[in-house]
Amino acid sequence: MNSQDFIDIEEQFGAHNYQPLDVVLTQGSGVWVYDLEGNRYLDCLSSYSALNQGHVHPKILEAMQRQASRLTLTSRAFRNDQLPLFYKALADLTGYEMSLPMNSGAEAVETAIKLVRKWAYRVKKVPHNQAEIIVAAGNFHGRTTTIISFSAEPFYRQDFGPYTPGFEIVPYGDAEAIASAITPNTAAVLIEPIQGEAGVIIPPEGYLRRVRDICAQNNVLLVADEIQTGLGRTGRLFACQYENVRPDMTIIGKALSGGFYPISAVLADRVLLGLFEPGEHGSTFGGNPLAAAIGIAALQVIADERLAENAAQQGEYLLDQLSEIPRVHIKEVRGKGLLIGVELNPEAGGARRFCEMLMTEGILAKETHKDVIRIAPPLIIDRPTIDWAIPILRDVLTRP
Ligand SMILES: *Cc1c(COP(=O)(O)O)cnc(C)c1O
Repeated sequence: MNSQDFIDIEEQFGAHNYQPLDVVLTQGSGVWVYDLEGNRYLDCLSSYSALNQGHVHPKILEAMQRQASRLTLTSRAFRNDQLPLFYKALADLTGYEMSLPMNSGAEAVETAIKLVRKWAYRVKKVPHNQAEIIVAAGNFHGRTTTIISFSAEPFYRQDFGPYTPGFEIVPYGDAEAIASAITPNTAAVLIEPIQGEAGVIIPPEGYLRRVRDICAQNNVLLVADEIQTGLGRTGRLFACQYENVRPDMTIIGKALSGGFYPISAVLADRVLLGLFEPGEHGSTFGGNPLAAAIGIAALQVIADERLAENAAQQGEYLLDQLSEIPRVHIKEVRGKGLLIGVELNPEAGGARRFCEMLMTEGILAKETHKDVIRIAPPLIIDRPTIDWAIPILRDVLTRP
């Protein structure tokens, strides 16, 4: 079977909830992936930042294989000898006292929402069923029915109501809008430190700091969704650290497994995560020993290989190089670390056609919304690889 055969089968038998580029990948190693015909591509999406450690990292692979042959699932009805070590690794790396493991990012966001609400009723004494959570326009927190209830993107929600109430949407990047939206029933502010899916939207400097202060002054929890920005992507372990902000809760996922397995977690101190009682929340697979062993190895790689530092260094260089590409179609280049958005002029005809041309030249990137190309390679990328990619990006982005 060749690539077209696989594409045909996928189109016939699979739901069309994605519109992938027509490349059928069969192997990956580090920053590179290979299609069925043996063509090599630089992965500049990293599965939406789930592959910060690169494809098939040998140390994570080894941990996965070792654990997979010993014990994979116990359910949380019983204890296992991997989860405690994962908790410990998370606490040591992030400085939060506790964590709660789930599988997908959306589940971790749902977990955070439940915890915030419980805190509001039990600790803040908000009247029952009245808790409000403030979120930002342009947010992306996942695809569950509750989460799409507060999506500002009509396409993500329009046909999927009725919606979960209890969310207030304010403009992103405007701390005073948050201050104005707070009521006695406000439980939390839930934001991304940089909005990845919205097109790599970076809020004004001082925003996160100001939001942190507003939350503290009003007895409102700050919850950061660092599922995409976290674990080194933006050049720090967490993007919030750029403003010395420590959210009350941080949500992580994606690179928590280095792409081997769905693993997510809510991080918080005991005053919050200690509120959950047995039976109130759970997941059959959440915190399973295979996930825990993979998670430990994935965190170890982030620390050992200084991936945040490399993201800061290579990201700065890549951003500089991208900024020098003649502005034929480019409206703006922006980013932090290795989370970079190249926004094209509306007249450029959409980012998709440039992504298709890049694919032909050996670079895989994906449009986010209509006019932004996200450039987010694995954090292990080195200078020579960036120097290989830049002329290709320059050539494609200056074509008519
Ligand atoms: C990807 C993402 C999610 C959802 O994660 P899933 O694993 O796809 O459920 C939530 N928030 C942000 C910021 C993300 O980038």
